[in-house]
Amino acid sequence: MTATVFAHCSLLDAARGQLLPDRHVLVEGAYIKEVSDRPLKTGQAVSLDLGGRTLMPGLCDAHVHVSAVEADFAKLDRLSPAYITARAARILREMLGRGFTTVRDAGGADWGLAQAVQEGLLAGPRLLYSGHALSRTGGHGDTRPRGEDRYPRPFLTVGTLARLCDGLTEVRRAVRDELRKGAHQIKIMASGGAASPNDPIAFVQFSPEEMRAIVGEAEDAQTYVMAHAYTPPAIKRALAAGVRSIEHGNLIDGEALDLLVEKRAFFVPTLVTYEMLMREGKESGFPPEQLVKVQELHAHALAALDAAQRKGARIAFGTDLIGPMHRHQSLEFALRRQVQKPAEVIQAATIRCAELFNLTGHIGVIAPGACADLLVVEGNPLEDLGLLQDQGSHLSLIMKAGQIFKNRLA
Ligand code: ZN
Ligand code: ZN
Repeated sequence: MTATVFAHCSLLDAARGQLLPDRHVLVEGAYIKEVSDRPLKTGQAVSLDLGGRTLMPGLCDAHVHVSAVEADFAKLDRLSPAYITARAARILREMLGRGFTTVRDAGGADWGLAQAVQEGLLAGPRLLYSGHALSRTGGHGDTRPRGEDRYPRPFLTVGTLARLCDGLTEVRRAVRDELRKGAHQIKIMASGGAASPNDPIAFVQFSPEEMRAIVGEAEDAQTYVMAHAYTPPAIKRALAAGVRSIEHGNLIDGEALDLLVEKRAFFVPTLVTYEMLMREGKESGFPPEQLVKVQELHAHALAALDAAQRKGARIAFGTDLIGPMHRHQSLEFALRRQVQKPAEVIQAATIRCAELFNLTGHIGVIAPGACADLLVVEGNPLEDLGLLQDQGSHLSLIMKAGQIFKNRLA
């Protein structure tokens, strides 16, 4: 078993929002074995003297689509799975290069992709996948143009990101089928969306009965449901059905926020995708007629995060980028910084994601028994979140599950 000692670290404690000076961390295999304020015996271990540099837990992103290699989902549906995988490989590798060691895929990634990462065939973050997101016919996952009458093939599946299901029997079958294929959590489309042609944002999608059936099936399998939802009616319906995380939530109001806090659900804003769609959507191939829907969402995104922060909601870090815009993932830190302190933003991307994923103590923390997902930062991100920008160039070391992906220290 390989062992590494990180000596003389300024250890970033996300929960306390502090750097703990002169700490020493022993990693054995894939896990953190010991954290001490005294020098550790190295023995067979490789010793890396950080000389006071920051050691922080690897970052988490609770909302990505690693297989959304095109910004136009109708186009995505016509690509070969092999080609999508090859392009997703690059997206995954670049995410890890930005310091993201765990990501939750909100639709598209499957067992094969997660397994390839797990086996080390592809470099990338640990992938918590939803399989196909569930959408009702004519919902956010239905990418067919209005002139199209055929039902999608094969087996109720639209392209790569979502599958269609209607009625209690079909939604139960869809959840069970995604869980059979190993989905870590279930994703539903609970309101209209921007990246789909036929559903205005105001649409509420899935009936209360369908949502409760979906949540019940997920809970029977010891997991949970994440819901794409923009408007108060959709958010409230999803929360009432027992959904664990509200994704985006741009148009959330006070009443829906109160319910979210009361239910101890999680809020996963994805500011950067609206920002980038406004800036680069057109040249990235996002359909212009859908871009109109983005404007309203973009206008409200920051205020929704601000309101959630003031109400004490449990806020996790998400990005939701698609196509060529993936490279702007870390801009989410800067956008959130407008209404949150750096420590709050870092908490969202570490301990809060861990809670949301039911992985508290395993990821997002530097403590004995946790996965050895570690970043060495040239500076203090609690003072300067900009250190997490620039494609990982301020990270001199990136380790995931004890494996070094990048090391500039030597
Ligand atoms: Zn969404
Ligand atoms: Zn999404």
